[in-house]
Amino acid sequence: MMAWVRGTGGSNPFRAERRVDTKSGELTILVTDDEVDIRDGAERILQRLGYRVLKAGSGGEAKRLVETRRPDLVLLDLKMPGGDGMEVLKFIQELDRRILVIIITGYATVEAAIEAMKRGAYDFIPKPFEPDQLRLVVNRTAETIRLAREAEQLEQEKLRTLSDLDTEKSRIRTIIESLPDGVLVTNTAAQVALINPACKHLLDLPAAEPVLGRPTDAVIPDEALCGLVAEISRGRHLDFEDIPAQEFALPSGKYLRARAQPVLGERRECLGAVVNVTDITTLKIVDRLKSEFVSKVSHELRSPLSTIHEQLATVIGDLVDRAPPQDQHILTRAKEKTKGLISLINDLLDMSRIDEGLICREPRPVALEELLRGIVDFMESKAQARHQRLTLRLPATPLPELQADPLALESIFGNLVSNAITYTPENGAIRVEVDAAGVNIRVRVVDNGLGIEEKHLGRIFERFYRVKDERTRYITGTGLGLSIVKGLLDAMGGMIEVQSTPGEGSVFTVLLPVAARPRPA
Ligand code: ADP
Repeated sequence: MMAWVRGTGGSNPFRAERRVDTKSGELTILVTDDEVDIRDGAERILQRLGYRVLKAGSGGEAKRLVETRRPDLVLLDLKMPGGDGMEVLKFIQELDRRILVIIITGYATVEAAIEAMKRGAYDFIPKPFEPDQLRLVVNRTAETIRLAREAEQLEQEKLRTLSDLDTEKSRIRTIIESLPDGVLVTNTAAQVALINPACKHLLDLPAAEPVLGRPTDAVIPDEALCGLVAEISRGRHLDFEDIPAQEFALPSGKYLRARAQPVLGERRECLGAVVNVTDITTLKIVDRLKSEFVSKVSHELRSPLSTIHEQLATVIGDLVDRAPPQDQHILTRAKEKTKGLISLINDLLDMSRIDEGLICREPRPVALEELLRGIVDFMESKAQARHQRLTLRLPATPLPELQADPLALESIFGNLVSNAITYTPENGAIRVEVDAAGVNIRVRVVDNGLGIEEKHLGRIFERFYRVKDERTRYITGTGLGLSIVKGLLDAMGGMIEVQSTPGEGSVFTVLLPVAARPRPA
């Protein structure tokens, strides 16, 4: 662009100065002129506009200041004695093209202006000039400098953001790659979109095996987990809380636990699933050792305790009417305590057998009606002692034959009926009902006893959990019965549910799959 500002003549170009309110933007201007009046006058005007001003009286001085102070703009007299104006222009051009130059010359001709512009000068102002002319040209050039600076700054910011993003991405990738736990991410088609080295190692996959893009079941050797991951990937589970962790074993003997969750986008749309895999082999070994220990100790204790129990019963029988009532009472209490200990030991043994996966390994045909009748008959005396009515309600049509472990079924319904009797006051009623429900057989143990408050319902299947209140205070128990029931049902692919109203009674509903579906050991 060439701005030609025609001079209006006049001896002193700096008369009638006016303070012009222009944003100087902290620019530095070098005024180069051999006439001291021009230098000082220009300095005054420019300083009032807020610019920082440097002055040079010769080409050599101008070059030195340009080099050391790097002004933003140079006002350059082309015709200084020695005629080195054009050389200074060339020097500036070579040093830094961002420094703009406005030519000042007393002998303005179109040719001189064109020549200077050709050599890279930005604008031109003829001498003599009015202060307003100088303000106009300098402000306009300063605006160009500011715009160029802003553009440069924006460009740099853009580059910085891009490089920040790049750094962020590679940082996250490095962290995921270095995680000690396995991470596997799928897309919405349940194909592997990302897997870290730890995950490959945990799944016993060779590090170099290409798995990206492969379906999850080609990578994870567990049907249940793959099914869950496929469902999550397709957006069927958006509620994180409801998704249970899965445990599975590898042929190498390794035990893994996997937690899968959906990956949600900004609008809560499902983008796939993320699976976190951890090695729980050591925990499993410690668990097994603990079970073996409990089982060994329980076995060792059971026989002597049973002997003590029988001997106490004999002694008590022999002493009837012969020993003082006080002694008889002590012996009877001792007998009850040994009975309690024996039942605790039996429960502990059952628990260890469940933990070791020794239960329900070989299902066989079971006639459930008969099995339940046996249990009800066996419990009849206990119910009668409490003046309770214990009934069994069988369906009109025979039930399908069940494939299951009969000992496990006896333990399940023995515990439930025994609890119903224990937690129902005298004169209450307990009913066992059976019917077919689709692919399951449903057994309901109904009582009109104490009932269970809602806050305990979620916890009564935990090991050693007992409801402690005024009404249950004097009832002895181990707190293991329902956890054994739950453990056995889990092992055979069944389910249990409880509904209860305090003061009115409880209903424990068990669903048993007709065809055995034992959990893999
Ligand atoms: P235990 O009977 O040895 O305490 P369980 O695991 O069998 O242990 O039961 C846990 C708790 O659940 C019991 O302490 C009792 O408070 C409650 N419970 C179980 N069955 C019933 C029932 N039929 N009615 C009321 N409460 C029950």
